[in-house]
Amino acid sequence: MSSNLARSQAIHTINQRSPMDLGKTDPLNTIWACDVFNLATMEEKLSKTAFKSMKKTFQTGEPLDPATADVVAAAMKEWAMAKGAKFFSHIFYPMTNATAEKHDGFIITSPEGNAITDFSGSLLIKGEPDGSSFPNGSLRMTNAARGYTAWDPTSPAYIMHTPNGATLMIPCVFLSWTGEALDKKIPLLRSNAAMNKAAQRVLKLMGETEVATLNSSCGAEQEYFLIDETFATARPDILLAGRTLFGAPPAKGQQFDDHYFGAIPERVQVFMQDLEDKLYRLGIPAKTHHNEVAPGQFEVAPYFESANVAADHQQLLMTVMKMTAKAHGFLCMLHEKPFAGVNGSGKHVNWSVGNSTQGNLLDPGHTPEENLHFLAFCGAVIRGVHQFGPLLRAVIASASNDHRLGANEAPPAILSVYLGDQLEKVFNDIKAGKILKTEKGGKMDLGLSQILHFERDPGDRNRTSPFAFTGNRFEFRAVGSSQSVSGPLIAMNTMLADSLDWIADKLEAELKSGKDVATATLAVLKVVMEQHGNVVFGGNGYSPEWHKAAVEERGLKNLPTSADALPELLSPEIAGLFERTGVLTPVELHSRFEVYAEQYINSIDVEAKLVVNMATTMIYPAAVTYLSELSATTGNLQDLGISLDNSVAQSVATEANAMMAAVGKLGEARAKHDFANVQEHMAFLADTVRGLMNEVRAHADTLETLVADEMWPLPKYSEMLFIK
Ligand code: ADP
Ligand code: MG
Repeated sequence: MSSNLARSQAIHTINQRSPMDLGKTDPLNTIWACDVFNLATMEEKLSKTAFKSMKKTFQTGEPLDPATADVVAAAMKEWAMAKGAKFFSHIFYPMTNATAEKHDGFIITSPEGNAITDFSGSLLIKGEPDGSSFPNGSLRMTNAARGYTAWDPTSPAYIMHTPNGATLMIPCVFLSWTGEALDKKIPLLRSNAAMNKAAQRVLKLMGETEVATLNSSCGAEQEYFLIDETFATARPDILLAGRTLFGAPPAKGQQFDDHYFGAIPERVQVFMQDLEDKLYRLGIPAKTHHNEVAPGQFEVAPYFESANVAADHQQLLMTVMKMTAKAHGFLCMLHEKPFAGVNGSGKHVNWSVGNSTQGNLLDPGHTPEENLHFLAFCGAVIRGVHQFGPLLRAVIASASNDHRLGANEAPPAILSVYLGDQLEKVFNDIKAGKILKTEKGGKMDLGLSQILHFERDPGDRNRTSPFAFTGNRFEFRAVGSSQSVSGPLIAMNTMLADSLDWIADKLEAELKSGKDVATATLAVLKVVMEQHGNVVFGGNGYSPEWHKAAVEERGLKNLPTSADALPELLSPEIAGLFERTGVLTPVELHSRFEVYAEQYINSIDVEAKLVVNMATTMIYPAAVTYLSELSATTGNLQDLGISLDNSVAQSVATEANAMMAAVGKLGEARAKHDFANVQEHMAFLADTVRGLMNEVRAHADTLETLVADEMWPLPKYSEMLFIK
């Protein structure tokens, strides 16, 4: 059997592929949110009083009475069963980036043996999945398995269809029997409540009398790769680690910059349309799609929604992307760095806060220098990022995101804030005690009469900044493509809550001393800039000069790896922040450190094991087979009196030996277990194990350029990255 059978079969299959025939698609107005039990559905299905109290809960988070829950449960069941659902599932978001589901039938039997259906308010409100198999970071002893799921009425239930069935999905929180948060939704809801409370305080001090509940919003831009799924079956690294652990760079990569915003390959375009139809049915407002920088890389961005709903939708989007890709013969790769040498994938989290009475508080309007609300909230963000930068770094830490951060393709691992020229000047003026009129961007004139003139934005974009102001929101650009957006949203809401409280305290004192609101606010913001203005940076975040200056002159932390960043969660500052704001107890925070550290350790260990296995059982045999063929041919030619240059054979032998020597060292490193604590274990993986994995890879990738193509077992980058 040829050693590259799987690879050659994959190439053969791909050559037969054509775009999937979807038939005619349904218009938007017939499919939009047709599988969602949202407010519009409820208005139709519920009594007036039940609908009114659900709407109130939905909009303000006010508690719902049990009688209404019963009414909602009955209506939900009827609606879902009419759509073919026989099962319902509480869906929840454990401390990993995953989504979890526990399915139960509506069915019960009567004493006569008939099947009847039952779904009371109590079944809607509370579920009891065995919690012991979910990561709990020592929050529970293994014998205390009970965990609860509880309905979140502020995120709409929906129907998931499979070709022959449907399930009613109910978004839930997940907690332990002792009442601790075991998930990402509880702290997200708490962080939103903390932000609302502090924001109310500030706005009321600033003279507002009517202040509606404030909510954070999130619009997440999801980058991803598509490869033909047949390649994955020939690559254990893609199947098990989600990325390639080997692979020489192709002759053509992304150097021509011809993929970004280029024409979308037809097979992909059809996939995107199918995906978007599925998302629309689920009420997910997919709005933008385009090619990304690397070949085979794309982006989808839904329109922004309230952070809680956006977070649930983001998890669902990732699930639907993977399912839909499979139906189109693709593998959707959400890993942050599936291919070395080409760009990785991120998930920009666009975030703002606002309400129905004051609007978006991060919208500066045309004259930001006169917009005191905006200045106070923007100042609070500046203080938050400065004070809690290490927290923002820790919530995006993962073994896979480490490949991007600081690799000059994604924002650096140093947290700074980009404001744009106009705003930076406003804040510097506030710091200097003078506040001047801002300059508008000025007209854009292209010298083309047929193109309408438009106004230039007040600031350019800065793609090297991890945390950039983008007109009416902040964009946290360092988040990884496979991550849940909840961690970043929790961190941003909580740091904002803390900063707004800090501002409120100072503002109270200034106002008591007799100052008017404007003078008092500017005086507080002057202090913000004096103490925290160091975090504002508009230059090139990739440059070595910035890395040096950020740490040495500005006192910012550079935390290049997760092994550096995750232990920050144990710092007294961060524990104090979460405790003060009521978002996480010290025990809940500690459990998160344990879960994330364990995930980091496990994912690198799985990869290291794969490197050893693949090098030994796939790459070494390919090298040896080629060597034996070369030596046989050389011998035969010698019999004919012809001599063959043996430099290729020499190089293959040298590289194969060097690779196996590195494999030996990696195997020894993997066996090391005598670490004083998890921090030491993580540092060893980051510094030593990763280095040895790279060493094995370097030799293997050289072998790929030497061994006969027909003998190479792994699909090559040039084959996987360019979609047919
Ligand atoms: P970019 O040009 O940065 O790639 P995109 O259009 O791809 O922008 O995505 C921007 C994202 O920001 C979208 O999800 C959009 O809905 C979201 N967004 C826009 N305004 C706000 C806001 N006020 N708050 C939160 N997100 C927002
Ligand atoms: Mg975009």
